[in-house]
Amino acid sequence: MENALCPNCGKRLLVDKCLGEKDAVMKCKHCEKTFNVSFDEKTFPAKFNSFNWGAFLMGWLWCFFNGEVETGILLILLGIFSNVRVIGFIFLILYLTILIDLGRKGNKIVWNHKEWKSVEAFKNAQDSWLSAGIIYCIIGLDFLLINLAADRL
Ligand SMILES: [Zn+2]
Repeated sequence: MENALCPNCGKRLLVDKCLGEKDAVMKCKHCEKTFNVSFDEKTFPAKFNSFNWGAFLMGWLWCFFNGEVETGILLILLGIFSNVRVIGFIFLILYLTILIDLGRKGNKIVWNHKEWKSVEAFKNAQDSWLSAGIIYCIIGLDFLLINLAADRL
């Protein structure tokens, strides 16, 4: 797949904002400059700006696999602190805010994290994360129900 390189330093440009399947505002991390780039062929998935449910559902685990280790660690800590009595809800709100933010920026994060061979490969990876996320939530919900049931025994 075609890579956009910085006209200044030749390093790989990262997507700052996707404007369509062929157009994006791209940023050079090295020079900290942004460029409007138009590709000749379809380069970005049509749903680039849509919500990434895999990122939202898998949270910290998704972060660890997609180059957002610090955010992942932060999510784990917030998750632990959300169990604190009385003030726990503050951590829970922060936790959910970060998850929503991850969902919104998820596609951009994954896209920039590595070089994708094709739009298909990118889509397949996101579908896998979504499937994993759904299973993960069902299992989580099961454990919650089992715990609730066990409490009543
Ligand atoms: Zn540059």
